[in-house]
Amino acid sequence: MVEKSAGAGARRGQQVLQRLREQPPAIWYRGELLEDVTTHPALQGGVHTLARLYDLQWENADLTLYDSPTSGHKVARSFMMPKTHDELTSISGAMKVWEDYTHGMMGRVPDYISRAMTGYAAGAPFLAEADPRFGANAVRYYEYLRENDLCLTHTLIPPQANRAVSSAKQADPFLAARVKEETDAGIVIRGCRMLATLPISDELMVFPSTLLKNPEEDAPYAFGFAIANDTPGLRFICRESVDYGRSHFDHPLGSRFEEMDAVVVFDDVFVPWERIFLYRDIKRCNEAYARTGAIVHMTHQVVVKNIAKCEFILGLASLMVNTIGAENFQHIQEKLAEIWVNLETMKAFLRTAEADAQLDEWGVMRPAWNPLDAARNLFPRLYPRMVEIIQQIGASGLVAMPTEQDLKGPLAQDIRKYYQAARAEAFDRIPLFRLAWDASISAFAGRQVLYERFFFGDPVRMAGALVTGHGAQIQQYAEKVRAFVNQGKDEAFGAA
Ligand SMILES: Cc1cc2nc3c(=O)[nH]c(=O)nc-3n(C[C@H](O)[C@H](O)[C@H](O)COP(=O)(O)OP(=O)(O)OC[C@H]3O[C@@H](n4cnc5c(N)ncnc54)[C@H](O)[C@@H]3O)c2cc1C
Repeated sequence: MVEKSAGAGARRGQQVLQRLREQPPAIWYRGELLEDVTTHPALQGGVHTLARLYDLQWENADLTLYDSPTSGHKVARSFMMPKTHDELTSISGAMKVWEDYTHGMMGRVPDYISRAMTGYAAGAPFLAEADPRFGANAVRYYEYLRENDLCLTHTLIPPQANRAVSSAKQADPFLAARVKEETDAGIVIRGCRMLATLPISDELMVFPSTLLKNPEEDAPYAFGFAIANDTPGLRFICRESVDYGRSHFDHPLGSRFEEMDAVVVFDDVFVPWERIFLYRDIKRCNEAYARTGAIVHMTHQVVVKNIAKCEFILGLASLMVNTIGAENFQHIQEKLAEIWVNLETMKAFLRTAEADAQLDEWGVMRPAWNPLDAARNLFPRLYPRMVEIIQQIGASGLVAMPTEQDLKGPLAQDIRKYYQAARAEAFDRIPLFRLAWDASISAFAGRQVLYERFFFGDPVRMAGALVTGHGAQIQQYAEKVRAFVNQGKDEAFGAA
């Protein structure tokens, strides 16, 4: 199966919906295999928002699209391999369009994995060192994605059965997805991965996490490949939806931005060699994200998302405070200031990462890693705190909150009277506080907090990796302090 990259370039929403209808992934929801995710109540809200994003890119074509270097078609800027600082900042500018529309509440807008695959294709020579086919596959697949404007989900982590031992040492060696068979045509994968957010996408990227340790026993679990979501044997088992099929008035976020998370089952899934980028090479698997630059380009996208999310929370908190006349309380000002500082911190990280970007070994303008690494380690702590602030500001206002039906029912006059606020009549205050509820205490809100805590990995192990990865820099400061300490010692006792 050699990939044909021919495509018409950037898609529109209708084409996104059409592909999902014509090539439905095996998405299971509450015991049922969904025939059409574009109309199913649990998923259609998120699906239609996803489609809307593709229309939005055409409505903002100057910002979001560029001319394909191979076909000349307009293609999504998130597939660009930037060569200059200006091109790099144009990518974050493009990514901000979707983030502004979703307010950062759809963590897995297609840009995220588009940046990852662009990074892998740029670093193809690194993949080719193991096998020239792997490098060529990454480039060809990337061009296929770009020219057809496809959207990916990804899955990295083995199932949470026994975290004390590796995948090979689980009760069943096929619990975690592993190679069952290798043939001249490709490999067969059996087992499972968790999680994949956005199963309503077109393709699935299956890459190693950085946890592989033992070259012998981990080898069957070491691979990087990508397949279509409707590949035979591939199944997505969804969690319960946080879109309850209610109106935008009642559930403003859940009804729009349910991206869904699914466990991925590989029931003897065949993967042709043409779609394989990494294979059985533990060291290369562990290094791939960093060496190709994929991790940096993904984190670049994530910081744009974080900025949009901070802007949204700041705007929401400010409106709530103003509505109930709480703006003069000092602790409220302190809380607004805290969110503002978070926003400016994220903006500063992005700006520094772009300003300090340098051409990498693949000739790509790679954002500086330190500010991005700082951002991805900090935000999992900032976001839950900002949600807590919304709760602290909203207090009982977050539950004293009737539904659209109540406002249209016989108690409408009571509601007009008793739900009024200092600076808003009831029918304006209620949708605002429903939004605050959906951002801070609903199931949608809880899942957002969990997402921000974990989606980039376990924060504890990320911190460990940070200390190791930036060890040389940290050591510099240790030496500086040692010299200062020694100065006092030398003064007291004389130099040794
Ligand atoms: C909403 C959501 C969406 C996600 N979407 C995706 C996705 O699209 N694609 C994807 O690949 N992944 C996704 N993830 C998974 C994410 O990458 C993981 O949650 C993250 O890597 C942590 O792994 P885990 O959840 O398996 O936690 P576990 O590894 O099971 O950890 C459970 C607890 O044990 C502790 N622990 C476990 N092992 C160790 C250790 N060795 N040392 C110290 N402490 C340890 C952890 O600190 C944690 O407290 C998503 C997660 C969430 C919550």
